[in-house]
Formats: sequence, C-alpha cells, structure tokens
Amino acid sequence: MRWSQMHIPTLRENPAEADAPSHQLLQRAGYIRQLMSGHYSLLPLAVRVRAKVVAVVREELDAIGAQEFSLPAMHPAEVWQRTGRWDSMGDEMFRLKDRKGSDLALGMTHEEIFATLALELNSYRQLPQMWYQFQTKFRDEPRPKAGLMRTREFTMKDSYSFDLAPEGLDHSFELHRGAYERIFARLGIPALAVEASSGSMGGSASTEFMCPSEVGEDFVVHCPACGYAANVEKAASALAPSADGAGPQAPEPFDTPDVRTIEDLAGRFDAPADHQIKTLVHVLDGVLTLVLLRGDHVLSEQKLLDATGAAEVRPARPEEIREALGALPGSLGAVGVAEEIPVLADEALRGRTDMFTGANRDGVHLRGVDLARDIRVTGWADLREVAAGEPCVRCGGPLQVQKAIEVGHIFKLGYKYSRALGVRVLDTAGKPADVIMGSYGIGIERAMASIVECHHDERGIVWPVAVAPFQAVIVVAQPADEEVAAAGEHLYGQLLADGVEVLLDDRNERPGVKFKDSELVGIPFRVTVGKRGLSGGTVEFTERATGESVDVPLGEISAHVR
Ligand code: ATP
Ligand code: MG
Ligand code: MG
Ligand code: MG
Repeated sequence: MRWSQMHIPTLRENPAEADAPSHQLLQRAGYIRQLMSGHYSLLPLAVRVRAKVVAVVREELDAIGAQEFSLPAMHPAEVWQRTGRWDSMGDEMFRLKDRKGSDLALGMTHEEIFATLALELNSYRQLPQMWYQFQTKFRDEPRPKAGLMRTREFTMKDSYSFDLAPEGLDHSFELHRGAYERIFARLGIPALAVEASSGSMGGSASTEFMCPSEVGEDFVVHCPACGYAANVEKAASALAPSADGAGPQAPEPFDTPDVRTIEDLAGRFDAPADHQIKTLVHVLDGVLTLVLLRGDHVLSEQKLLDATGAAEVRPARPEEIREALGALPGSLGAVGVAEEIPVLADEALRGRTDMFTGANRDGVHLRGVDLARDIRVTGWADLREVAAGEPCVRCGGPLQVQKAIEVGHIFKLGYKYSRALGVRVLDTAGKPADVIMGSYGIGIERAMASIVECHHDERGIVWPVAVAPFQAVIVVAQPADEEVAAAGEHLYGQLLADGVEVLLDDRNERPGVKFKDSELVGIPFRVTVGKRGLSGGTVEFTERATGESVDVPLGEISAHVR
C-alpha cells in the first residue's frame, strides 16, 4: 500500500472531546471517526488492526475445538420473551418494529439465539459443543465512553458451550480460560483473570479479564503475594464485616448515617409488613449497593433471605425498582436516577452479579451506574481504603486496588437458558436431560482500544507487531530524487515479495513530517531510504518502541522487520 493513496487523515492536535489516550490517538492517527455518541466508523488502518485481533481470537478459539457461526444481529421479541429478558433487559436493549408491527430487538448478546440452534442437539453423544461468532452487538449504554472503549455498537466474539453435566461445563470453562489467557498475551494486553461475583440466577462461576488502566471503569482487588485477584464486588463480599463483627471495619463516611441496616431500611417503608418484605427484596436485589454505601453492611443473598424472611430473591423489574426507590425516604429516594435503574436490573437479571456495590464517579464506580449525583457517597473510595492494606482474603498479604478495563468475561450460565428454551438431550441412560451452558465474551474494538492504552508514548501509538496495521513503513526521504525514489520502490517490491506487510510513504512531504506521522500511526518498524545511506548501500532501520536506529545493508532488511 502507498501512503499517498491510502486514507489516513491524521490530525495535528488531540481532539478536544477525546477523554482517554486511546480515544485521542485513534482519532488523531486517522483510525476512527465518530458518527454519533457511541458509534464509530473504522477507517482503513483500523480495519487492518481489527482483522488481526479477530484472527488471533479465531485461532485460539479454533484451537480449543470451538466452531464458528454467524447469527443474525436482529432478533424476534418472542425468543427473548421466553427467557424473560425482553422485559429485564430494560433500556439497554434497542427495540424496533417491522412493517407488520412485529417487535424486534437488536441483539446485545446471543444466549437465546444460540440456545435455539442447540434445540437440534438430541443425544449426549453430540456433546460437548462450543460455538462462537464475531457479531455486532447493540447496547444502549447510558454513557458511551472513551472512543472504542464503551460504544453502543461493537463487535463481540461471543462463545457458548453446551455440556451434559457440570463437570463438562467446568472443562469448557477452563478451555476458554486458557484460550483467553493466550489471546490477551498475544494481543499485548496484560489482563488479570479475576474472580467476579457469581450470579444468583443459576450461574456458579464467573471470571473477568481485567486490563489494569486508569481509563478503566472497574476496580480490581489484587494481592501481589498470592495472586488473589477479584473484582471489587467480589472482594467486597469477602471483606465485609461478618454478622459477629469480625473482619475489617467499614468506614463511617456519611454525614447522615440514618439508614444502616436492612431492618432500618425496612422500617422506612410505609407499607404492610409482607408488602415491605417483598418490596425490600426487590430493592435489595437490585440496589444492595445502597446498603453498603450507607454504612457497614454487605449482604449475601442468603443473609438477605435470612434478614427478610423472604422465601426467594427474584430480580426486580425496572419499574419495580423505580417504584420501590420512590418509596424510600429522603436522600435514598433521591438515588432513583431513572436512567441508571435498568442497568442495575439488567445486571441482576442476567445473573452476572449477585450483589451491587457502588459509588460515585470520582474514583468510584458502580458498573457504569452513577448513584452519586444526588447523595454524598464516597463508597468506593472508602472501600478502597478498607481493602488497601487489609489482609487478603487468602494469604494475609496486603491488597492493592487498581482501576481496570474489562476486556473479557467468561461465565458459567448453568441451566437458565436451556430450561427456559427446552434444550435437552437424551443422557447415557436414554432419559431427557437439561443441557448446561456457559457463555464467554471478548469485545474486539475494546481490545483494540486497550492495546493502545497499554502501548503508546508521547509521540503516538506503539502497536505490538502481532496487531499492527503494517509491520513496516518505508520512508522515502527525497521522493523528488529519482535514484532514491527508485530504491524505495525496489525495496517496497522486495518486502512485499517476502510477505512483509509494508506501507510505502511516497508522499511529497519532508522527512520530518513522515517520521512524525509514522510514529503517530504506530508502525513497529521504519525503513528510511535516503541519498546518504544509498551511497554506502544501506538504509536506516528504526524500531518504533525504542526509537533506536541502525544502518542495515539494503539486501538484509527483510530479516529485520519480523
Ligand atoms: P461492562 O461491564 O464494561 O459494561 P459487560 O460486563 O456489560 O461490560 P459483557 O456482557 O460481559 O460486558 O460482554 C463481554 C465483553 O464485551 C466485555 O467483557 C467487553 O470486552 C465487551 N463489551 C461489553 N460492553 C461493551 C461496550 N459497550 N463497548 C465495547 N465493548 C463492550
Ligand atoms: Mg455492560
Ligand atoms: Mg461488566
Ligand atoms: Mg461482563
């Protein structure tokens, strides 16, 4: 490819609205352009990087025996209604009607649709199955953020496993864990595999892959001594004071610690006792957060049941949470930030978290949910203080808390979807048995942004070779000089023939401009062809990561650029 003919609209300045290094650099280096908030066009350089990321993910998924599918992005409401998620997905789901008036959704995930295909499995002999795809997901995120990091339209590699028994699921889950570790290592993303809260909806284990970064919206609690790593929700449950008062003491951050316990909270309801309990369960399942944030309680589902005497916890519907929040007194009532509620409900219903903890936006976080605008909460900040330096959950070493980007998530779903949709096979005894499922996701464009977060300097992006749009760029220093131009062309042809992905910067620009652009764009190796070097039969070879240059004989350059 010739730079003069490629569309690489680099900008001199960082765009004012860009809020993260990857967002700034991907725009400035001509990789992406925003169409509207949360929707980005990928320009040719970005398409090349994306293809490399996809190829790495595909290779590792194929290597564990997963099979590639491609499912529709648009779904009928009916299949989502059968699992209850048509309602529970709330405002995060994009919905539309076709000309006949049928309700449709733009897929935000594909458990239902893959499970529908699994209806054609009929014997244990066909299991296990691991199915995956690269597909556009649509999520009406309340706050799209940081360029490709959190968008409303993005590509996910999502896989689904189908097994006869829990041990089979364990195996499929471990295969994915291994594949994910290899994928992130190859992509240059230093992801930590952290324990995430397991769902209360039939899920039994969940691991998030977290890339430490200030840009991240999650928090990871990590013990360098023993390697314990958990997301902050999970760690909070381990760190929370137990009923007998043992364990670390939570701070007293609130000016008005008027609601401190479930019982206190219950007492605030102006309703008959059994109604109280029901409403409370709804509220607490969705907004257990508040209890933590208001003081000293983090409760497990079991404690919640014990405390309320309720028979079961069922996830609240958005309107129920809204209604229940409206019934809460004063400052707590003010927490009912309408746009946030569906997010809580969504997480609860998808069984991805068994409790909600949260905080404000200044160093504080609640799964993208901002509860803090109306209440004085410094929950996470406090939680971080509590966690930092506390003995670890496992080895007793001090804990570190860091911000991180969720780059992948693997999840044991259990039987929720197979039971709702009737995915059964005949088992070894010839009896119908429910199939047990797992689901596993990686955001492709978020991975691209995360790579840039981890690999850049003040001059621009520094792509790892494995994902770079081109391995090498040839800078023709004096394009007007016939001999130099011809040498550049010759080298270009030679590198192409050697299978090197190379860009020829044949533009009629000063070398300084070309150097700056190639550094901004982040191509790992630069070969400068100039008059002075050619007279001695050499070109200058420069490594982007180190900035070091050496003179290399013309014929030997291919060996250097791999
Ligand atoms: P988050 O907590 O950041 O909202 P999630 O937990 O909702 O992510 P999952 O449902 O677990 O995401 O989806 C699997 C993967 O898809 C995530 O780990 C992430 O890499 C990617 N992903 C999720 N939401 C987005 C988004 N809005 N934009 C880009 N990538 C996303
Ligand atoms: Mg999300
Ligand atoms: Mg998440
Ligand atoms: Mg997740």
